[in-house]
Amino acid sequence: MLFGRQDRKKIKILDKKVQEWKYTTCGYCSTGCSIEVGLDAAGKAVATRGVATADVNRGKLCIKGIFEHELFEAAGRGTTPIVRNKPWDAWQPASWDSALDKMASEIKRIQGQYGRDAFAVISTGQIMTEEFYTLGKLVRGCIGTNNYDGNTTLCMASAVSGYKRSFGSDGPPGCYEDFEHTECLMAWGSNLPEQHPIIYWRLKEALEKRKFPLIVVDPRVTMFAQFADIHLPITPGTDVVLQNALMHVILAEGLEDRDYINAHTNGIEALENCVKDYDPTTAARICGIDEDTIRNVARLYAKAGAAMSIWTMGINQSTHGSDGVVGINNLNLITGNIGKPGGTSLSITGQCNAMGTREWSSCSGLPGYRALEKEKDRKEIAEFWGIDESFFPQKRGMCMTDILPAIETGQVKGLWLVATNPMTSMPNTPRIRKTLEKLEFLVVQDAYQDVETNQYSHMYLPAAVWAEKTGCFTNTERRVNLIRPVVPPHAESKPDFWIFTELAKRFENGQKIKFPETPEGAFNEMKQLSKGDSRTLDISGMNHDLIEQSRGIQWPFREKQREEQLATQKVDSEGVKGDQRLYTDGRFQTADGKANLIALPFIDNNERPCEDYPFWLNSGRVVEHFHTRTRTGKLGNCNKFSPTPYMEMNPDAAAELGIKHQTYVRLVSRRGDAVVMVQLTQRVPRNMVFIPFHFHDCVNRLSLGLLDPHSRQPAYKQCSVRIEHTDQKQAAKLNAQRRAF
Ligand code: SF4
Repeated sequence: MLFGRQDRKKIKILDKKVQEWKYTTCGYCSTGCSIEVGLDAAGKAVATRGVATADVNRGKLCIKGIFEHELFEAAGRGTTPIVRNKPWDAWQPASWDSALDKMASEIKRIQGQYGRDAFAVISTGQIMTEEFYTLGKLVRGCIGTNNYDGNTTLCMASAVSGYKRSFGSDGPPGCYEDFEHTECLMAWGSNLPEQHPIIYWRLKEALEKRKFPLIVVDPRVTMFAQFADIHLPITPGTDVVLQNALMHVILAEGLEDRDYINAHTNGIEALENCVKDYDPTTAARICGIDEDTIRNVARLYAKAGAAMSIWTMGINQSTHGSDGVVGINNLNLITGNIGKPGGTSLSITGQCNAMGTREWSSCSGLPGYRALEKEKDRKEIAEFWGIDESFFPQKRGMCMTDILPAIETGQVKGLWLVATNPMTSMPNTPRIRKTLEKLEFLVVQDAYQDVETNQYSHMYLPAAVWAEKTGCFTNTERRVNLIRPVVPPHAESKPDFWIFTELAKRFENGQKIKFPETPEGAFNEMKQLSKGDSRTLDISGMNHDLIEQSRGIQWPFREKQREEQLATQKVDSEGVKGDQRLYTDGRFQTADGKANLIALPFIDNNERPCEDYPFWLNSGRVVEHFHTRTRTGKLGNCNKFSPTPYMEMNPDAAAELGIKHQTYVRLVSRRGDAVVMVQLTQRVPRNMVFIPFHFHDCVNRLSLGLLDPHSRQPAYKQCSVRIEHTDQKQAAKLNAQRRAF
């Protein structure tokens, strides 16, 4: 018998006439897929394909990666530097020399008039690691402002803070290969299939070979939750309560790994005392997960030979974000699940090079996980760069989320934004709009001139994008991979590396500090600074060619590892391998080498639904788009499949309010309002709505974004709104304007 349609049309695959494939690494998310971009006879990028021999993606790409070659010629690219006296004046084109002269003199004017820290710099997770290192050298070594941060504070700051508090250092200890070994996987606030599709595919592949329990903690029935064995639909912002309850059961039933706790941790007594208060019956009332399920999950996790937790923004973007990460680490430490195959705490990073900025940008300290607070670190870097140690501040300055309010209060008068778009990405858009209007001097450096924040700038510098440049990204599993330039920079745009080194020449310390002439030169400096047996972040064995040959190398990868492997392995075909996991010997980066178990009493401190604003507002990603759509909003299929913002709403709640599927509603919070189309779905509970965060003038007009006290990361996912009917014609018009790029 024949099944299926018999008259199926043959699929025609267009011959793109590719003449040459060039190696690079995807520039969107932190999965770190190896890519080849195909060029036609005229040198135009016409196709993208995954690299089959790359361990990360094994030939696969998601929708964003597949169309990534289109972004070189996407609409809105900047062509030349432009300047104006004030926002809304007409732009005037400028040469690079005159623009950089003006920028340096404005920075000096503001610093001279108001103090060094009155000029702030906010960068990104999108540029190359060598560029981050060079920007750090410029900002810390030449400009000398302490108000310098990256937009990674909006996504990964809680993970960084949590790792530091538990293990004494940043750095995800696990890897994707842990999926092959784990016996229980718990995912906290992560919709992996949409956020990181290729990591999800690696997990599915592992599950197909060998079944193990998959537990997803998320207030929504996400795509990931639908694939889970157990879904825990937690009350927003109460992860710490669930974690304490799981540990309560584990410790009460003697399921902990007492040998590991005694040998490798401090603080068990305080933790035991704290979690005594979180018996499953009490915890269930706060976190919304029934007590039997809490007991069942605790036993599954603790009895597994190896258990691991992964997480993303559901944990990080909370007033308890850093605590949520520490809670995951606590859980893994008391069950002996750190540093072993399948047993780990693995934060799934957001941007392609969020890790690179953490490691080398000097935003939160000095290069290579060094701290401004440590005299030894300050001295070492000052000597290496050839400047006076006293030029460095002795503690970290403001984070991004504190810099913007400091503009309101007049502490910060000038700002340089590098590849970041706070008009769309920051919570409480109406407040950010007023804030940016107060600046005396705003520079936007970005590949795209039409990025929303540029409306408020005095100067725009067109940067080369992604594979128009050379350099490295570090992915979620600490794998350093290479981006080769595939096409030349668009029009007169310049690599960020070039912009940083040229600007440095205009500062006094820029004459003393030697800036490398190429990204490879910067990489060599980073290698020298990373050397040392006690350092986890050691890249001294790597170089650009070896990284490409190996399709990425995980750190640590020391010189001696390279020598050993070159002597014994078939490096020509397989490349080399760095350490897959950190802390395999149970020694952590703390003073006594032991990890910290930290008691985390829960304090309910966020906005919650009430009579006037009865719905939780939750936000997150869709697979087609990346961050604020500066790129994917202009690419054919990405935008075609997801052209407009929408709001998921439970059908029962909609029926009560007389709201129909695919009609527009007005959402109102204490900050502002937004008009959005309704999609009725059981994915959200009755008292919650969900909106993708990518769209300008939408969810962040409503969000509150209270800050985590440790990481200063905003709680995007927890605030309250009410829903009102609205005029359908006007709403449709507004929506059409939003879609038009
Ligand atoms: Fe790029 Fe991430 Fe998609 Fe891989 S999963 S192709 S890194 S966007």
